[in-house]
Amino acid sequence: MTDRKLALVTGGSRGIGRAVCEKLAERGMDIVFSYQAGIRAAEETEQLCAAKGVRVLKVQANVSNSEECDSLIAQAVEFGGGRIDVLVNNAGIAKDGLAMRMRNEEFDAVIDVNLKGTFYMMRGVSKFMIRERRGRIVNMSSVVGVRGNAGQINYAASKAGVIGMTKSLARELASRGITVNAVAPGFVETDMTRKMTQQARNAALTGIPMKKIGSVQDVACAVAFLAGEESGYITGQVLCVDGGMAI
Ligand code: NAP
Repeated sequence: MTDRKLALVTGGSRGIGRAVCEKLAERGMDIVFSYQAGIRAAEETEQLCAAKGVRVLKVQANVSNSEECDSLIAQAVEFGGGRIDVLVNNAGIAKDGLAMRMRNEEFDAVIDVNLKGTFYMMRGVSKFMIRERRGRIVNMSSVVGVRGNAGQINYAASKAGVIGMTKSLARELASRGITVNAVAPGFVETDMTRKMTQQARNAALTGIPMKKIGSVQDVACAVAFLAGEESGYITGQVLCVDGGMAI
């Protein structure tokens, strides 16, 4: 056990989640992160964080399963010597398609991971934070949750739901010294967006006032701010990191 803070990040093996793990490690936090299937990528994140001189634990857990979330939280609490200072709910998936053609399984899968997973993690971790009377929760929403998007009705529902949950829990936990905020990225270069066709990418670019795609670093810096000491009087907010898309 150390005096360092402990951050628990879901979906830390790749993309934005990995950048968040690295950024929080750089700020001196011990890291517990989850992954679902990509062990190789998880090992790389583990090495990148360890290189910053902090303790790291990777845990395989599917966030759409509440028992696996509880087990992930229990392992993080043990690793952190009884506490979790920061929770970043980053794990997420997309299964895009027009509403009239979307299958029930595609709708449910996205809700299960993005919305229910975030709920299971917040429910479990907030108990430990309340005991400590301090904590930071940062949820990954999306510009799509703020303003909707054609072809993403399931994803939009999940990410708008994340905003609703963020504001609700912020109200529940404000008097306990715990802040709950959301980051809403726009179009960020990761595996999730690399799957898009060139046509879809060009269309997305025309909707970005800054005319450029965001980086995982842009998002990680916003998360680190909301996870740090400087943001102590900010709760229930949605910080858009989107080159102006949500304006
Ligand atoms: P990504 O590159 O596809 O990485 C997703 C991460 O989530 C991986 O670590 C993956 O682990 C994990 N994951 C997926 N399903 C999981 C599950 N059921 N249980 C646990 N972990 C799971 O995604 P990203 O682009 O970095 O996105 C990260 C977050 O930002 C997501 O919530 C996404 O919706 C949000 N976001 C992204 C963008 C963007 O432009 N990229 C924009 C707005 C919001 P495995 O590899 O092990 O499966």
